[in-house]
Amino acid sequence: MLDADLTLGVAMTDAKGDRSKRRGAQDNPDVYVHVAQRRPDGIVIRGTKAIVTGAPYVHGLLVMPCRTVTADDADFAVACAVLVDAPGITMVARPAGHPGERAATFSSRYGQSTAVVIFDDVFVPWEPVFLEAEYELGGTLTTTYATHHWHSCIGARAGFGDLLICAGALMIEANGLDPNVHGHIREAMVELITIVEGFYACGVTASTYAAAEPSGTVTPDAVFANIGKLLLANQIYDMHRLAHYVSGGLVVALPGPEEDHDPVTTAALAAVLGGRDDIPARQRLEVSRLIEDLTASYQGGWYSIISLHGGGSPEAMKREIWRQYPIAEKTELVANLIDRGAAGGRQRSTRQPGKCCATGCQPPPPPTEHRALSGAPRTTTTTDHAAAATPRRGPP
Ligand SMILES: Cc1cc2nc3c(=O)[nH]c(=O)nc-3n(C[C@H](O)[C@H](O)[C@H](O)COP(=O)(O)OP(=O)(O)OC[C@H]3O[C@@H](n4cnc5c(N)ncnc54)[C@H](O)[C@@H]3O)c2cc1C
Repeated sequence: MLDADLTLGVAMTDAKGDRSKRRGAQDNPDVYVHVAQRRPDGIVIRGTKAIVTGAPYVHGLLVMPCRTVTADDADFAVACAVLVDAPGITMVARPAGHPGERAATFSSRYGQSTAVVIFDDVFVPWEPVFLEAEYELGGTLTTTYATHHWHSCIGARAGFGDLLICAGALMIEANGLDPNVHGHIREAMVELITIVEGFYACGVTASTYAAAEPSGTVTPDAVFANIGKLLLANQIYDMHRLAHYVSGGLVVALPGPEEDHDPVTTAALAAVLGGRDDIPARQRLEVSRLIEDLTASYQGGWYSIISLHGGGSPEAMKREIWRQYPIAEKTELVANLIDRGAAGGRQRSTRQPGKCCATGCQPPPPPTEHRALSGAPRTTTTTDHAAAATPRRGPP
């Protein structure tokens, strides 16, 4: 597929049915994609992927499991590539953005279609089958993919944030306000900038600490990729609020574009709905319409929800952050500090000889063994201290 420059949509999110039940326990097994038949020349898959971005205009679909798989549901551990016109595939899609809608300043030109993809006994030859029944690898595949996806989500949403920062600044200017003079407007803009650049910084850091894989690919740092995606998932709603705060109510109250050329009202509207004298009213109205499209329209809701759930819901990020964060290394750092006496520990290295206690006994010899906070007994060496003082992620 790479050689032929084919585009793949990611078919990961299964329909899932009753979320409290595992795959094999669903009344309808087709709410998850699974292997229905194994043949000498390939496999037959069936089931439903509920949300696939770009499905109607990609060449093929990359099918992957959407959660960890156990031995009991090994038939659901399937990853493969399949062309979209393979017999048995049905897509039920919604349009990409809002083509032809004049009020949709941005989304009339830029948007993504999503589709429900139904696999009704689709044959896949062995060659593009990457995972089949090896359920132990399902979790690794899912989380590795998610790390890449969340990393790219950060860049996408930072670009969206740039649009809001710039549109907000233009609206403030057209309204005749100066953030240097009006503190509450400046504060709102600073909050917006801090949010956007905050999660973008996590993306840059995830790139900086990325690890080269033997295959030649590069994997972003999982902790920073997850934190960045978690931040944007929650803060997208604040981004919308701040854009609304600095812009005012016209964002949703401006008459539609059909009024723009009405000979009876156009001039009158331009005369009263403008702001600063030296900025054309038309510019203010266009910016207002852009902010509506990005934040207060159907498309605005779409941006909220893709930020919140796209690639996985926040709970998935929280689990990954907890799983990947080097708590043991951190606790070791504190354990070593305690050893040195910084927290009044046994070594008491800052005390003078003979002054270690009220009775004036000699200081004990340096400890050779202590129990790290994580629980395992370990031997203390100079090298250990040096290692503990080293940042957990070195430069690439
Ligand atoms: C615009 C858009 C584009 C997308 N594009 C793609 C794509 O191209 N490819 C793709 O594969 N997916 C895509 N997704 C899907 C996305 O990955 C999912 O929306 C996400 O993983 C959440 O799954 P869900 O929508 O089924 O929600 P649910 O899984 O139903 O989650 C809803 C809530 O219930 C909670 N929950 C769910 N199950 C449990 C449980 N067992 N126990 C406790 N709590 C639970 C969740 O934490 C969450 O808070 C897209 C989503 C959106 C919105």
